[in-house]
Amino acid sequence: MSKYDVAVIGSGPGGYVAAIRCAQLGMKTAIIEKYSTLGGTCLNVGCIPSKALLDSSHHYEDAVKHFEEHGIEIPGEIKVNLEKMIARKQSVVDQTTGGIDFLMKKNNIDVYEGLGSFKDATHITIKGKETIEIEAKNIIIATGSKPASLPFISIDKERIITSTEALKLKEIPKHLIVIGGGVIGLELGQVYKRLGSEVTVVEYMDRIVPTMDKGVSKELNKIFKKQKLKINTSHKVKSVERKGDEVIVKADNKKGEEVEIKGDYCLVSVGRRAFTDGLNAEAAGVKLTDRGLVDVNEHLQTSASNIYAIGDVIKGAMLAHKAEEEGVFVAETLAGQKPHIDYNLIPGVVYTWPEAASVGKTEEQLKEAKIEYKTGQFPMRALGRSRASMDLDGFVKVLADKNTDEILGVHMVGARAADMIAEAVVAMEYRASAEDVSRMSHAHPTFTEAIKEAALAATDDRALHI
Ligand code: FAD
Repeated sequence: MSKYDVAVIGSGPGGYVAAIRCAQLGMKTAIIEKYSTLGGTCLNVGCIPSKALLDSSHHYEDAVKHFEEHGIEIPGEIKVNLEKMIARKQSVVDQTTGGIDFLMKKNNIDVYEGLGSFKDATHITIKGKETIEIEAKNIIIATGSKPASLPFISIDKERIITSTEALKLKEIPKHLIVIGGGVIGLELGQVYKRLGSEVTVVEYMDRIVPTMDKGVSKELNKIFKKQKLKINTSHKVKSVERKGDEVIVKADNKKGEEVEIKGDYCLVSVGRRAFTDGLNAEAAGVKLTDRGLVDVNEHLQTSASNIYAIGDVIKGAMLAHKAEEEGVFVAETLAGQKPHIDYNLIPGVVYTWPEAASVGKTEEQLKEAKIEYKTGQFPMRALGRSRASMDLDGFVKVLADKNTDEILGVHMVGARAADMIAEAVVAMEYRASAEDVSRMSHAHPTFTEAIKEAALAATDDRALHI
């Protein structure tokens, strides 16, 4: 039987990063993955393929709607070849997951393909082409998550689908109904809207992306309406029924009236659930919470002292970069180091266009915590860079402590917000004040000038270009 210092179950961004860091720190490491490709949800059916389709559909939309105003004329009709678009997405996925194979080899990590189940706290049975057993002093559970649904919805994976199927449709829906106005629903909704589908989003809460700052939700809502996405907030879905090629969604609106929406596809994107099926956690003494998450303490240690858990399978935001930080955290903990994660500084991003990104506290959270704060907001349309690319929508909002000027939150909607938010994370990690950021030179013309201007606005209402 092979023996390891560490065995990682699950090869998503949490698991594979944990394995690499363990190996870097000199531990003999194994990783177990039930699928034939490494990379987990993120690389196979999550972050990477969704961004590949967002990019392709964005190019198409630009060609159809915006090339002309840039003085680019394309003779003849511009058409989508969905099969080719999906194939390109798959080749991006294949290259990326292949990259993880390379990293595992480079770091001398043994890869096992098969379902990992605990035999006890130090032994894992791996059911693959054959069944084998390995022993590990420490084990990291990184089994991730799966799409959640509502009890009355039966996902048939053909017309009533999850994000996984939405990434490989064979035709462009005529009318895609998206249940859930969170990040995944909005991103995939926008992909198909750009490709020509009618898209209706049905959201239970009174705003889309309800976990983000209210200002971000409002701005995105306004922009998506301009893009002709239909957004129904405060709608409680009651039933989803398939009749042949038709899907009928019934929901109660704010007034309690029944609304019926008919489409040909329905994407159910109501969140994700921690995945522990087949893990046999109880055999190792690993406790789950009431919600089915693996229960961990502040060291990400489970109820079994040599077993840790990271990523989507534990509490917190279901994000790839959060899983990665936790992977490094556990590896360094096992090596006797004292790592730290500031969960307040894990950024959240929506990769629609324009993008939206957020870090730190929202205005709602600051109000609830009764923290006195000041706000500096700057519209993207006032930037030269935005005018040059015609990306005029959105804003950057800096929230700073009223007394100390320390930045407490940064929220933005706009072109390249996903990349721009990194500046806010760095600033907040070093506990910068709004004035600190406002005094740093930002290259001109860039979208990041909106951060400087918002910081200036928060400092003493000193924005220069508005
Ligand atoms: P996962 O990536 O889910 O990996 C878990 C792995 O464990 C899987 O490969 C699974 O097969 C394996 N496994 C499970 N049980 C066993 C077992 N018993 N034995 C062996 N193997 C097992 N996040 C972002 O940060 N940015 C994004 O842009 C983004 N976009 C997304 C888009 C979509 C459509 C979706 C669905 C998700 C997106 N996410 C995004 C979320 C992101 O994918 C997850 O947060 C991330 O993958 C979690 O990583 P993880 O390592 O915890 O688990």
